[in-house]
Amino acid sequence: MSQPSLLVVGGGIAGASVAYWAAEAGAAVTLIDSGEAAASQVPAALLNPVRGQSGKVTPQMVAGLNCTWALIAALERAGYAPAHGQTGVQRPVPDGRTRATFERHLAALGPEAQPLFRWVNPPATQAAWHSALEWTSAGWVDGAALTQSLVAASGASVLRGQVTRWGADWAEVGGSVLRAGATVWCGGARGTEWGPPGKATGPAAYCC
Ligand SMILES: Cc1cc2nc3c(=O)[nH]c(=O)nc-3n(C[C@H](O)[C@H](O)[C@H](O)COP(=O)(O)OP(=O)(O)OC[C@H]3O[C@@H](n4cnc5c(N)ncnc54)[C@H](O)[C@@H]3O)c2cc1C
Repeated sequence: MSQPSLLVVGGGIAGASVAYWAAEAGAAVTLIDSGEAAASQVPAALLNPVRGQSGKVTPQMVAGLNCTWALIAALERAGYAPAHGQTGVQRPVPDGRTRATFERHLAALGPEAQPLFRWVNPPATQAAWHSALEWTSAGWVDGAALTQSLVAASGASVLRGQVTRWGADWAEVGGSVLRAGATVWCGGARGTEWGPPGKATGPAAYCC
């Protein structure tokens, strides 16, 4: 059976992750990225399962955090070293009402999640904080380094250029049409400025 092939449009964290996992599953990946500044290039992206405003946290978000640490460990074993720190992350809340909302979400996680977090008092320098939720296994990662490591580990062929049109199994870049078994659009916010996925002709490509 021939190797499945995949076109990935966009080389931020979404596109890099798709490239990595598709390659792990045996696909030959071609990743096309414009090289414009991407949201994923932040020097220290927080890895934290709790939404800052609402305090929403679900078992899937907690599993996602664990999965990300496991992914970083796998990259390290493969010789890549995206800078990171599992330092714990504090989510400050401004008042008791917001804290009560956070606590409702936390309670829904069940008792097994209780050792994963704790409430701490604000430091003296942060008078506006009511208190802070500390997620002890959260942390940070260098977004640019993680993205580059994923792409390198995927073994994807990387093309620099802006995809102007695309469909379920093709993409046009620099006047040439590339074909593959499927296209995944991962253009992020910048890509939607250039034209939403709905602009694609033919059957819709996958989007993430
Ligand atoms: C300052 C800042 C801090 C943040 N901090 C955090 C944080 O701490 N934790 C957190 O979880 N999130 C954080 N975020 C949000 C997070 O960075 C983004 O949600 C995430 O990086 C989006 O990734 P993406 O791959 O979807 O998009 P992007 O990183 O924007 O990547 C999309 C890529 O696709 C390319 N592209 C688009 N269209 C085309 C096309 N037609 N042809 C070729 N290439 C194309 C773009 O040039 C770009 O390189 C932060 C964002 C910012 C800006």
